[in-house]
Amino acid sequence: MERHYNLYRLAKRLLLWLLPFFVVGWVFEQLWLALAVGLACSVAWNFFFFQRLNRWLWQSRTTLPPRAPGAWSDIYDGIYGTLRRAQFKRRQLSVLLQRFRQAAEAIPDAGMVLSADGSLEWTNKLAQIYFGIRWPADKNIRITNLIRYPRFNKYFEKGDFREAITLISPTGDQRELELRIMPYSGTQLLVIARDVTQLRKLERMRKDFVANVSHELKTPLTVMNGYLEMLEDGESLPPQMMEKAVHDMQGQTQRMQKMVNQLLELSRMEVQTQDNFSKRVPMSRLLNDIIAELGPVMQEKRLHLDVAITPDLSVWGSEDKLRSAGMNLLTNAIKYSPEGSNIKVSWQLVRDFAEFSVIDSGPGIPLEHIPRLTERFYRVEKDRNSASGGTGLGLSIVKHALEHHRSKLQVESTVGVGSKFYFRIPPELVSSPTS
Ligand code: ADP
Repeated sequence: MERHYNLYRLAKRLLLWLLPFFVVGWVFEQLWLALAVGLACSVAWNFFFFQRLNRWLWQSRTTLPPRAPGAWSDIYDGIYGTLRRAQFKRRQLSVLLQRFRQAAEAIPDAGMVLSADGSLEWTNKLAQIYFGIRWPADKNIRITNLIRYPRFNKYFEKGDFREAITLISPTGDQRELELRIMPYSGTQLLVIARDVTQLRKLERMRKDFVANVSHELKTPLTVMNGYLEMLEDGESLPPQMMEKAVHDMQGQTQRMQKMVNQLLELSRMEVQTQDNFSKRVPMSRLLNDIIAELGPVMQEKRLHLDVAITPDLSVWGSEDKLRSAGMNLLTNAIKYSPEGSNIKVSWQLVRDFAEFSVIDSGPGIPLEHIPRLTERFYRVEKDRNSASGGTGLGLSIVKHALEHHRSKLQVESTVGVGSKFYFRIPPELVSSPTS
């Protein structure tokens, strides 16, 4: 009820209005006529303000009511108050709606609201990107016409949304999307789609990794098991056979040990995601140490090493990782080079970058294998390389070590001629006398 409205006040006003007419009618003994005139004046007066109210409500552009005396001022004020409150509520609602929209845009998932028959009522930006929806042109179109997969059609028509469904984005960008549908505000449906491409990739990688490790361990374990069974009744084993058994078992255990060490090194590198560039690594000393360490193996294969190492050309970064990268690349070059061939190692400034390269005259690598060389356990010729003690982990370690130094492993190779493995450290991590 309005603050000003009061039935008693209204009745009092009417009586006060009629009082002069009553007195005049009484004096002139025309009471009824005078009262009728009084009432007619009151009707005319009210009619005038009623008309003004109508004009204000329907024609005026302002929300401010016209001025009026008496009871009409109460009515105008009452309507004005109600209008103001409605306006305030509308403003509050629109702020709320805007906040809801902003929240819906901020969530990292695609969201759509469907009506009971499955036609699109609302969508956020991400849903428009994931499903190629044109907004508002696609409003009121059935979801099954927007996501045109028979599997999704069947899922939607069945109406059992307890399980999520995974689809490839219909826009053709190979994004894997996990869709969940749930009832929303009575009759509507809320669709939430999440990009699970990365998650699924990681799941596949984990499965591949377990399968690869198990496969890699199976061969040496089978070999060792075979020999151990033979050794069980060792008396009958000729000395030559015995020697071969011990040699093979040693080879297999060394390979397993190497693999485990490399896996540990890889997982250590993955854990250390924090970049630390506070240490200056003297690369010339580090590379000369590696060369000295590998000297005996090179001599054994009668390899000729051509070395061009720039002294004082250092790198800000991790010594262990750079040693690992250099060691793995040079070990590979030695391993895959034929006896008596040449290997060239260089460490020099190329423009502002510091470049490390190892060139060998080995068998070379067919082009189609090059992009996959840094994958874990990837070997070009699996059987031959595993027999030579290769694990297929060395280059993935190199990749990780270089990523830490904002660099990438590059490979140039010609089958039958040889390979060049190289990487360039960006200028901001290079420390040389000129920089
Ligand atoms: P592995 O322990 O098998 O050498 P890597 O990850 O170091 O593993 O190398 C992956 C594969 O790349 C090797 O199995 C080999 O096929 C190929 N490869 C690496 N370096 C060379 C090279 N210098 N010449 C020819 N092939 C190479």
